[in-house]
Formats: sequence, structure tokens, C-alpha cells
Amino acid sequence: MQGTPQTTTPATYPPSDRTVPTRSAERASYDKELVHAILDEGYVCHLGFVRDGAPVVLPTLYGRVGERLYVHGSTGSRPLRMTGQADPGLAVCLTVTHVDALILARSAFHHSINYRSVVVHGIAHDVTDPEEKRAALDALVDHVVPGRAAGSRPANKKELAATAVIRLDLNEVSAKLRTGGVNDEPEDLALPHWAGVVPLRKGYDTPLADPGLAPGTELPEHVAAVL
Ligand SMILES: Cc1cc2nc3c(=O)[nH]c(=O)nc-3n(C[C@H](O)[C@H](O)[C@H](O)COP(=O)(O)OP(=O)(O)OC[C@H]3O[C@@H](n4cnc5c(N)ncnc54)[C@H](O)[C@@H]3O)c2cc1C
Repeated sequence: MQGTPQTTTPATYPPSDRTVPTRSAERASYDKELVHAILDEGYVCHLGFVRDGAPVVLPTLYGRVGERLYVHGSTGSRPLRMTGQADPGLAVCLTVTHVDALILARSAFHHSINYRSVVVHGIAHDVTDPEEKRAALDALVDHVVPGRAAGSRPANKKELAATAVIRLDLNEVSAKLRTGGVNDEPEDLALPHWAGVVPLRKGYDTPLADPGLAPGTELPEHVAAVL
């Protein structure tokens, strides 16, 4: 058929030398939808970088806008400062992990965990464009509770100036998952040790309104929706 060629976004991240696990590579996935789902469900990422020749890994919030991840913090925060000073940016590795179940085997050796995790490799860049910075900060707030950015006062000039934002593009990305049950050895099946799967679930308790809430302020829909 003649006409303008259709450009389609690939559904997977191309595996690279550093995104293929050495062990249990069959558990790895590069599916974008899966990676996005794992990222969107998490609250905390771990940001790894090298400081003075030694690795440091810091837990922090994050937000996603399409194929970009954002991390924010005080302009005094070391990784954010280092990103602003590094040319062309700061080499980082960011991870997000969910624990879905405990796998209790008959043998100590086969104890395990069901998990979904994402590892992102790349160069973090300082976000200097004011519009991108605003959108990134909205994404960070909405990541905690969808709709929250519109349900709160936006950052003012002073707050914006005190906040640094860095961006990490989703290019070199892997997900890894363990699912299923116990993988004991056949010769251990008759042992008198309990074995099985203990699933974990995430839950929220009743929200506690701030005592100083302006009179008549009701729990908003967007908060009720996550409970
Ligand atoms: C909650 C949890 C508990 C775990 N417990 C153990 C444990 O006790 N022992 C153990 O050996 N392993 C454990 N793993 C798996 C572990 O993360 C590694 O996948 C594993 O150690 C194999 O490493 P490797 O030598 O293949 O890594 P490498 O060859 O160094 O990995 C190469 C690349 O593969 C990708 N990759 C590797 N692991 C992951 C991952 N988990 N998620 C996404 N991408 C990944 C990354 O891009 C990485 O750079 C656990 C994972 C999770 C999420």
C-alpha cells in the first residue's frame, strides 16, 4: 500500500549488554507496558550512583511522564547537585521493587520470594526548563495519589527555586519477575516441613484528617479513590 509510512513506537526496550541478567534471564522482560505498570505501582525508587569513587544508593520518590522518570529534592541534595554539575549528566541506576509473596520451601535452599522489579540504567539530567519542571513536579505528586497535584496548592516561586528535579529517560530498562510456587527437590517432597506461598497485599488504613483542616474541608474523591 502506498502512502505515508506509519511510525509505531516499539512495545519493548531493546536489551543491552547491561540489561540482560546473568542468572535466570528467562525471568527478565523488556515489555514497556509491564515496566510502566511496575513503576507506576511503586512509591519509592532506589537511586544508585558513584560518589567519590564508591557506590551510594538512596531511596527517594519518583514520578513518570511517558518514557521519562523524574526525581526531585532540595537543591542541596547531593545526587541532584551532582547531576547539575556533571557534564553530560550523572550516570545512575534506578530500581523499583515489589514483593508479592513469600515462598517457603521444605529446604532452606529453595526459600524465595515472588517479586516484580525494574532496573533503569542511564544518565540523569538536570531539568532546567520551567514548564518541564512544573510538569515533573505534578507527576511526582500525582504518583503518590493520582489527582493530588490538582487538589493542592502548586509550588510558588520560592519553593520552585529550592527544588531541583532530575530526569532519567527510559531507554536501557529491564524488568524481572518471579511468579509461581515452591520449587523443592523431588527427594524433599515427603519431608515433614510445611511449604507453600504466603501472598502479600498492600492496604491503606482510614485517613486521619489534619487537626488544623479548614472547617468544612471534606476528604477529596482522589484520596477516597486510592483506599
Ligand atoms: C525482592 C527481591 C529479592 C531477591 N533476592 C535474591 C536473592 O536472595 N539472591 C539472588 O541471587 N537474587 C535475588 N534477587 C534477584 C536479583 O535482583 C538478581 O536478578 C539476581 O541476583 C541475578 O543477578 P545477575 O547476576 O543476573 O545480575 P546481573 O547479571 O548483574 O544483571 C544484569 C542486568 O540484568 C538486569 N537485572 C538483574 N536483576 C534484575 C532485577 N531483579 N530486576 C530487573 N532487572 C534486573 C539489570 O538490568 C542488570 O543490570 C531478588 C530480586 C528481588 C526483586
